[in-house]
Amino acid sequence: MGDSYTGNATCNNCGYSLHGLDVDGACPECGRAVLTSLQGDSLRFASPDYLLTLRRGITIAIAFGIASMVIVFVTEVVTTVIGRLGPGSRQAGLWVGLLMSWIAAAGFIQFTTVDPGLGDAEQPGSARRLARLGAVLMIGGELASALAGMLPGAPTRLTLPTSAAGLTLPWLASLLSGLVMWAGFLFYFFQGLLYAEWLFRRARDPNGVRACRRYMILLPIIAVFGTCVCGLGPYVAKTLHWHLLWTLRTRIADSLAVQRMEQVIADNVARGATLPPPAQDPGEGRQS
Ligand SMILES: [Zn+2]
Repeated sequence: MGDSYTGNATCNNCGYSLHGLDVDGACPECGRAVLTSLQGDSLRFASPDYLLTLRRGITIAIAFGIASMVIVFVTEVVTTVIGRLGPGSRQAGLWVGLLMSWIAAAGFIQFTTVDPGLGDAEQPGSARRLARLGAVLMIGGELASALAGMLPGAPTRLTLPTSAAGLTLPWLASLLSGLVMWAGFLFYFFQGLLYAEWLFRRARDPNGVRACRRYMILLPIIAVFGTCVCGLGPYVAKTLHWHLLWTLRTRIADSLAVQRMEQVIADNVARGATLPPPAQDPGEGRQS
């Protein structure tokens, strides 16, 4: 029987308190080795289910984010620039693009899942929570904005009304939903990068940590000033943002690969398996 653990750490798979358990034992709730949970916050020792959820969330966020961007871009080019198809098709294309961006945001919400091993220690205003709140506000604001645009007398462009008569209900609805959308976006972007920085640190990747800090300044500059270049700035900024998230996804996949390898080794040790005998030299048995 090993020494019992006297600290306050919890199982990093299910959150069960490890206090009083044998250090060489396993969590009574989920069977995870106590030692693994005591290895600190490195992603390598995080719960595999948690890592899989994060990885899936990033995949969905990027795949549907790209799909949304392409659909909206193509719709605008075909209906506005080339002048083919009517305004009805434009509206339909934009709705499909919007739907894709909501699925992307749902992926981002998965990506901001709480780590069951660290949930108790998390502050209420953590970057993870605020980034997740931002994604929810973005979806809500975009939906409200799209609905406000369908109200009779809705403004096609949101400009300040010149008289009190311009303060209509559709105008106010457009303004409010726009503000919610933008507030959500700011949380999603800045807190999302802070959250990604925290994950890069847990993946022991200093380059990723630095990239997150750089992008908080660089991407808004590219998006704003790049708009003058055929309006491409926001697309470039989005692409760089996705690339950074993809790098983080690679780090998460690395952690999962290491865990799988360690599991294979542990299984072999438990089975008492021996290495296969070295292959025989084909020249050895040759008759002279
Ligand atoms: Zn557990």
